[in-house]
Amino acid sequence: MKNITLIPGDGIGPEITGVTRRVLEESGTEINWETVDVSDRDYSEVLAEILDSLTKNTVGLKGPVTTRILEGDRSLTVAIRQELDLYANIRPIEVLPGIGSGKPIDFVVVRENTEGLYSGLNFEIDDQCAQTIKLTTKRASQRIARKAYEYALEEKRKKVTTVHKANVVQAADGLFLQTVREVSDQYPGIKSEEIIVDNMCMQLVQEPEQFDVILAPNLYGDIISDLSAGLMGGLGVAPGANIGEDLALFEAAHGSAPDIAGQNKANPLALLRSAVMMLEYIGQNEPADRIQEAVRQVIAEKDVLTPDLGGKATTSQVSDEIISKMKGHN
Ligand code: NAD
Repeated sequence: MKNITLIPGDGIGPEITGVTRRVLEESGTEINWETVDVSDRDYSEVLAEILDSLTKNTVGLKGPVTTRILEGDRSLTVAIRQELDLYANIRPIEVLPGIGSGKPIDFVVVRENTEGLYSGLNFEIDDQCAQTIKLTTKRASQRIARKAYEYALEEKRKKVTTVHKANVVQAADGLFLQTVREVSDQYPGIKSEEIIVDNMCMQLVQEPEQFDVILAPNLYGDIISDLSAGLMGGLGVAPGANIGEDLALFEAAHGSAPDIAGQNKANPLALLRSAVMMLEYIGQNEPADRIQEAVRQVIAEKDVLTPDLGGKATTSQVSDEIISKMKGHN
């Protein structure tokens, strides 16, 4: 039995984590869940509890958490990533038969997850002037570049494309790019290419099949992975993982979707696919394969899908269907 921290989050979080947990239990996983609730609780208290639980268990599954805009809130999600040094955000983008653009897209976004414009260095100089510092360090750039190249080797991928804006953001992106070049020299078997972020967005829309592994600083990686999620059917199917040295937290790319919270119509597949990544990480490959196969079937058949994928099914109907497929019914 593996102890795993479960953070249901808020908004659609409790709905999708609830059904995901059920699917995992029905798939034959061996997991002891340790749940940390976030709703209506003191920020520092809940952050401390999450950090304790994740440090002890070393693996977690997280639903989304709302950050109120212009209210001075610090993102709990960003805080967890930074406090636990979960430096690599891995978001696989694979179009499954039945949804998305229909193009043969299969790439992975490897995003630096701890610094850049998310460093929390925000200063209101006065009511006419504000400053957010894009902090970039050699150490963080080096380890994320190594992660991208090592990932490419492990997954037998052939190319790493590094995204930057070093022509304008010369100091911060310049250091990032220079460091990536130094690391890439150690991986002669992997093709390396560089692309400016604005061109990257256009290329992703027009010719996404050309990409294999995409390496990006924090903000560009965040934006690119949501854009890419759109290519494979939307945020409702886009999984993700935050990986550190000995600790990993799995969560969907999407947020708490307040517009549909509490309506039983959120798509659970993004979190479920994140949970599949988690099961592979902890070596429970058989249930991972069972769930993955059931997800593929449900998407391909198109009969039981949530409204974001053009269907009429509820969150719980989708999870029931996945459980039924895993058990070999219909
Ligand atoms: P969002 O991802 O919550 O929603 C964007 C759009 O996608 C909405 O129309 C929403 O209904 C839809 N959507 C998202 N997930 C879906 C799902 N599983 N099924 C069906 N539709 C889905 O982004 P937002 O509206 O920009 O952010 C809302 C809140 O979430 C903000 O407070 C933000 O800070 C937070 N957020 C949290 C995380 C996280 O915890 N990792 C990530 C991103 C945003």
